Amino acid sequence: MLDRQEEAHGQEEAVCVGCGVRITERWFSKTQEGMWHSACLRCSECHQPLEEKCFAKHGHLYCREDYFR
Ligand SMILES: [Zn+2]
Ligand SMILES: [Zn+2]
Repeated sequence: MLDRQEEAHGQEEAVCVGCGVRITERWFSKTQEGMWHSACLRCSECHQPLEEKCFAKHGHLYCREDYFR
């Protein structure tokens, strides 16, 4: 499940789960897997951006359609 986007507070270094690059943007997305650039948060299946809704399964993220497929 996707928490609402949170402000980075400069705690520990935020590294994007998707691309492994440090997140320097002020806004990022956070899931159970970790933190993501907004641009990296995409469905593993159809690669559409997952800004509003995302579903995690086996360490991958899916849009609603692919998750429930
Ligand atoms: Zn990234
Ligand atoms: Zn999809």
